[in-house]
Amino acid sequence: MDAHSKFEALKAKGQLPSPKGVALRVVQLTQKDDVTNQEIAHAIKADPALSGRIIKVANALVAYQTRPVASITDAVAVLGLNTVRQLVLGLSLVEGSRNVSCQGFDYQGFWSRSLLAAITAQNLVLNSGTGSPEEVFILGLLGQIGSLALATACPEEYASVLKKSAAQPDVPLADLERAEFGVDHNQMTQAMLADWGMPQVFQEVVLYHEDPAQSNVAEGSRNWRMLHVQHVADYLSKVCLTQDPQRRKMVPKLILIATRLGVESDMLTVIGDKSIKEWQEWSKLFGIRSVEIPPFSKLLEAVPLAPDIRDIGELPKSTDKSYNLRILLVDDDRATLLLMKTLLEQAGHKVATASNGMDALSMVEKLMPQLIIADWVMPKMDGIEFCKALRQNPVWRNIYVFIMTAQEGTDRLVEAFKAGANDYMTKPINVKVLGARLGAGQRVVQLQEELEFDRQELRKFSTELAASNDRLQQMALTDVLTNLPNRRFANEHLERQWAGAERSGSPLSCMLVDIDHFKKINDTHGHKTGDNALKRVSEVLLHAIRKQDVVCRFGGEEFLVICPDTPAEQAFQYAERLRRNVAETAAYCAGGREFNLTVSIGLASKKPILPNTEMLLQLADKRLYAAKKAGRNCTIAN
Ligand code: GH3
Ligand code: MG
Ligand code: MG
Repeated sequence: MDAHSKFEALKAKGQLPSPKGVALRVVQLTQKDDVTNQEIAHAIKADPALSGRIIKVANALVAYQTRPVASITDAVAVLGLNTVRQLVLGLSLVEGSRNVSCQGFDYQGFWSRSLLAAITAQNLVLNSGTGSPEEVFILGLLGQIGSLALATACPEEYASVLKKSAAQPDVPLADLERAEFGVDHNQMTQAMLADWGMPQVFQEVVLYHEDPAQSNVAEGSRNWRMLHVQHVADYLSKVCLTQDPQRRKMVPKLILIATRLGVESDMLTVIGDKSIKEWQEWSKLFGIRSVEIPPFSKLLEAVPLAPDIRDIGELPKSTDKSYNLRILLVDDDRATLLLMKTLLEQAGHKVATASNGMDALSMVEKLMPQLIIADWVMPKMDGIEFCKALRQNPVWRNIYVFIMTAQEGTDRLVEAFKAGANDYMTKPINVKVLGARLGAGQRVVQLQEELEFDRQELRKFSTELAASNDRLQQMALTDVLTNLPNRRFANEHLERQWAGAERSGSPLSCMLVDIDHFKKINDTHGHKTGDNALKRVSEVLLHAIRKQDVVCRFGGEEFLVICPDTPAEQAFQYAERLRRNVAETAAYCAGGREFNLTVSIGLASKKPILPNTEMLLQLADKRLYAAKKAGRNCTIAN
């Protein structure tokens, strides 16, 4: 037998709490499409006691409005037909079910808790500014009516279920109820609300309000909020009416589910205290007892939050490990920190936390987070100041920053973006939205890192290119065999020295040094030995020249020595020294046999009659030829 048939069977026994008399009449009337407020008011007035209660309750319900409710017609006008109908229903149910004979069922406690849930739900809605306070009030009041129904219809069986439940506090009551009756109190409540013609969404809420994860209502939707308001309100009432030490164990869950709804601990304290105060007053209206409950600040004080949180939703997990980020979470509310941290860690991210901007700032350098999620309002340093301080450091300007803000803070968002935030998120955190925005943040972080990588590669490449250009340049100007500067360099260098000498009027000399009978070396000892001999001569010359001079390989076996600041006379002595150095140095052929080489030198110095370097070189060449003619191994300087 399914839950609904079970309900029908229980209903057939005629013992379920149900609206009677005026209440029944009102319910029937309001099911008519064309009913007027007058008709409803008229029906209610038939029961003066009920009328008085309705007016009192209506005044209490609309306390946040200005106009007092003086009559039933007023009450209908102010609260609307639905609310009045539901009030009549609620009040008549409380009245009509005073004689429950189920042992162990605490009738007073039942209505007491339902009333506290109703008031809390109403205050939660008033605080967030979304939803209907009247609707959630009625829902809170009727949210557990299924228990009352089971206790009324089957007092003995239910007494035994309650007994079992007390002995097994870890087994959900609903499980024991289903085992006994085939229907649990939530299913009963839903069936009763359906029976009374209450809207589908109310039925959904009462069915799932003890475990919202079972419902598949869309996160963040109006119905989602309504369900979670009822969940928090119901649980809060349960916490309040439980005694320590059990109560202490229940508080962490209360903090977390409230946070999930966007009610952080500070606000929960305010709402809790307000609700308890109102509850004590309302209890009198409904004629039920209330008890003393410690202030919420005491209740929430220093409770260690349980690390295992269930049913908070799940962020999409990335299959690509490289998408997992180093995240720094900054919030002064520890429950928000815990919730977010759990969500983010479940998705594979690495998460560190800080409780204000100042602490966060001191952690950034060591953590190097890729993404920061910071609350806006925090003590010491708020999210905006933190963001500004963060952006002062150019190294941190690429960190992706989310600012979290309460819904009402959204009109000040420009401020957050100005301070350097990349994106914002509204509290309460919607897991789907968080997932989507995190995805966008991840892509930006990824792109930035790729860009940075490319930039570094480019930098490396351009350094390499510069080095290779240098090498090429070097190669273009260097003789491969001797490693001396080549003829091209010689010409350029001579031009520069010439220009310098022109400017400063300082002397400049150059000498062409040509190896004597070099052809014979090749012919006698082979080309390889010829090459080695060439290298040997170049070494001797390089070693013998002065610091400011340059020796270049000018042709096959011909060198040019460029001597700035050197007048002809001095250059001649110098040339002779070079010549002797070569002559005195032995060269070797492959077999290790020694042979000697000599050079002839043609020397030319800059003179006013020489117009350019070309003429200078021509002159040197002419004198080199003369030196060869003169018998070689000598220097000709004029
Ligand atoms: P002179 O005293 O008149 O200068 O006689 P020479 O033989 O040195 O002059 P010549 O110009 O007739 O011959 C130069 C020779 O130098 C010819 C060429 O084979 C040789 N030679 C030029 N460059 C190289 C080289 O890189 N390696 C070797 N092994 N020989 C070279
Ligand atoms: Mg020669
Ligand atoms: Mg030659």
